[in-house]
Amino acid sequence: MRTSNRVVPSPGSFATGMVGVPEGTDIELDYRLEAVMEGVLITGTARTLFEGECSRCLDPVSSSVEADFQELFRYPGDDDGSGGAGSGTEADSGDEEEDYYLEGDLLDLEQVIRDAVVLALPLTPLCRADCPGLCVECGVKLAEAGADHGHGERADPRWEALRKLSEEFGDQ
Ligand SMILES: [Zn+2]
Ligand SMILES: [Zn+2]
Repeated sequence: MRTSNRVVPSPGSFATGMVGVPEGTDIELDYRLEAVMEGVLITGTARTLFEGECSRCLDPVSSSVEADFQELFRYPGDDDGSGGAGSGTEADSGDEEEDYYLEGDLLDLEQVIRDAVVLALPLTPLCRADCPGLCVECGVKLAEAGADHGHGERADPRWEALRKLSEEFGDQ
């Protein structure tokens, strides 16, 4: 067993929804390799930075993300089935058991790390935990507009129309 630590650049931008890790961002890896019967088991943690937009106020957000991963890389030829060392398969069919294979004595961590980091990215990032978001009436940022920002009752045009009606018919 040996433990390694290295920093690799992000192999491409990966993103989910409102956040992503830009291409070239440093990814810090801590991992441990263990030889097991079927191949090599890799266990580790990837740390990197993501960028995105606050899901409430659309301000830019960037923060760190940490993702744990564990994957078994099988020896080639140890298979029960398809001969391909399948990094080319793009099936997003939800198959949980995707097999990885050692290529020579290299293992291609890219997909493993990408999957782990994407899973760890927040689905609804926030610029801060209590971000008040945008005013639903005028779109102004409530954090800047202040707590007393509001549009009173006239905000809703349907009520406005009703009130005009009641004024027309009310006082005759
Ligand atoms: Zn925000
Ligand atoms: Zn407003």
